[in-house]
Amino acid sequence: MDWHNIQTALEGEPGFRLKQVKKALFVDLIDDWDKVTVLPKKLREELAISCPLDIPAQVFHSKDEATVKVLLTLSDGVQIESVLMRHSTGRNTVCVSTLVGCPMGCTFCATATMGLVRKLTSSEIIAQVLFFSRLLSKENERVGSIVFMGMGEPFLNYDVVMDTVRILNDPEMFSIGARHISISTCGILEGIQKLAEESLPVNLAISLHGSNDEVRKQLMPIARTYTLKELMTVIDGYIEKTHRKVMFEYLLVEGINDKDEHAIELAHLLKGKLCMVNLISYNETGKYTATTEQGVERFKKLLRKNGIEVSIRFRFGRDIEGACGQLATKSSK
Ligand code: SAH
Repeated sequence: MDWHNIQTALEGEPGFRLKQVKKALFVDLIDDWDKVTVLPKKLREELAISCPLDIPAQVFHSKDEATVKVLLTLSDGVQIESVLMRHSTGRNTVCVSTLVGCPMGCTFCATATMGLVRKLTSSEIIAQVLFFSRLLSKENERVGSIVFMGMGEPFLNYDVVMDTVRILNDPEMFSIGARHISISTCGILEGIQKLAEESLPVNLAISLHGSNDEVRKQLMPIARTYTLKELMTVIDGYIEKTHRKVMFEYLLVEGINDKDEHAIELAHLLKGKLCMVNLISYNETGKYTATTEQGVERFKKLLRKNGIEVSIRFRFGRDIEGACGQLATKSSK
């Protein structure tokens, strides 16, 4: 399913055709051109050859059925993963990948072991959402929110990610409100600065994982490029410009960043900012040990006591290796 090819194929057609096709593909979720009966038969036949609508995929369901992971094979044969999370509230969230692999080298993340294979196109990111939209439509449900938290660092593919956001938000396409779209970055300053200037009010999440530069450097090579001070200055600018609350993701790794002193230090670092902390249990990828559940709870209480809004991330899909940091396609596992 290549949306850009489809747009190109419709270029010679009257303007209303694009509208009809958008409705067929993104609202009616049709996966076969033959069923788009508003289009002339000849055009349908041409499109079926030049722009096939299938999305080749292998699907994995978690035991509790709350998580579905999909392995998509792209036109050049490379594979990516995306995850559907079905919250008990009824909201359906899709976690999309933006790169095949990732060059950032975070030491706790399975995707990092792949290195960067290539960037995705916006069609390839849309295909991930479309796949789950089709799946959910069979149950009369829809995708309600998107998190750019799958494979890859979104800000290394900034323009494509923003193109995708506009398509997700387009009322004639997925019609997902910007407030229900979140982009997570390991802390690429230029990306945060650019996002502050965008007109669409999407949410920003920052993978912090350390309360000081030394700890952060152990976990994330990006901390050697930008200090926490530089990162915080840019985030202050973002908040000042957008007045939107920033989410700090903090992964807890035993003995590295989970001590009481780290919680206190983190609270000091974030004090007074329009922000919240989302604590993530480390999904073991070989290198470290996860902080115990009690340890995570203790860290949360300490932050809260020190005036920081904090939540613990629900762990979706660990049994199908679909949880945070577990996405890496087979060949590299
Ligand atoms: N590249 C983006 C999106 C990454 S995935 C970023 O760095 O923000 C979303 C979150 O999962 C990030 O906060 C990431 O650091 C975290 N994560 C990575 N590996 C993990 C693991 N093994 N266990 C738990 N969380 C992990």
